[in-house]
Amino acid sequence: MSNVDRSTIWPYDERGEPRAFFYQRYGDPTSSEAEARLGELDGGSALLFPSGAGATSALVLSLLKPGDTIALAAGCYFGTGVTFQAFERWGLRYVEFDQTGPPPEGVQLIWVEAPSNPFLTMPDLEAAAAHPAPVVVDATVATPILLRPLEHGADFVVHSATKYLAGHDDALLGAVICRDAGIADELRTFRGRAGIVAAPDAAWLLLRGLKTLEVRVLRQSATAADIAARLAAHPKVETVRYPGLGGLISFDVEGGEAARLVETSTRLIENATSLGGTASVMESRRRWEGERVPAGLLRLSIGLEEPDAIWADLSQALAHA
Ligand SMILES: *Cc1c(COP(=O)(O)O)cnc(C)c1O
Repeated sequence: MSNVDRSTIWPYDERGEPRAFFYQRYGDPTSSEAEARLGELDGGSALLFPSGAGATSALVLSLLKPGDTIALAAGCYFGTGVTFQAFERWGLRYVEFDQTGPPPEGVQLIWVEAPSNPFLTMPDLEAAAAHPAPVVVDATVATPILLRPLEHGADFVVHSATKYLAGHDDALLGAVICRDAGIADELRTFRGRAGIVAAPDAAWLLLRGLKTLEVRVLRQSATAADIAARLAAHPKVETVRYPGLGGLISFDVEGGEAARLVETSTRLIENATSLGGTASVMESRRRWEGERVPAGLLRLSIGLEEPDAIWADLSQALAHA
């Protein structure tokens, strides 16, 4: 892994022709190295973007045109629906559907999430792949360690690399991995023109994070399965959502007041947003998603702490519910 190269310009060759890198908006060595590594992990051509939302925007703007409709998995990442809403005035439409079944007819793009955040359903990837429209799988929560959607017929994988891939809550970054190298070239050209470009420092932090991705994800998954089972047996917990893989859990306590008491009573688990870092974080999602989620829903991202220490903290916090 080389050092981060922050240059925005590189000299032309002795004949005056541009080399592989000439101006940072069109590519830089650090980002290219991270893209190569991510492409290997997911089995396609990877492109970095300044955030997961930036990856979403760039992909939709480059693939679709006014009048087109996206079929969006209901109950998936709140911000993705909000991004699509922002594009409605440019003539883009979206409809929500149950991703555990086939997508609706007459749409130009299918957008599912594996597993969805925070409802934690898994998409029917076979049914999605049977649809004529291209399929995007946001696999932020699964990571390529647990799922490689391109092997299941997806055309694009989207990651918020801010979460598990960078993995330390200190880099904002997104990625798209394309099945088709030619389409990746078109998206790269669009990215350079639109300027939706990641910084080399964030790419370097991604490279560092990827070195430990597998051990982190496997450990977080094992701990999450253990904690989900213990939550399911707790008298103050009404519902536990855990898809059997990954480090993310959501569960419901009695209502909004109980959820607020639990999230503000933890000592080890931080009361903060986001997921996929080395430290466990938990928050009520009602504050961001409104009526769309149950008032008592808490989303818990499992970190690398000892499972017994996480459980001890959760059970003392649940005593306040
Ligand atoms: C966080 C998140 C995003 C958005 O990524 P940012 O890096 O915050 O822009 C997209 N999808 C999922 C599933 C996420 O959790």
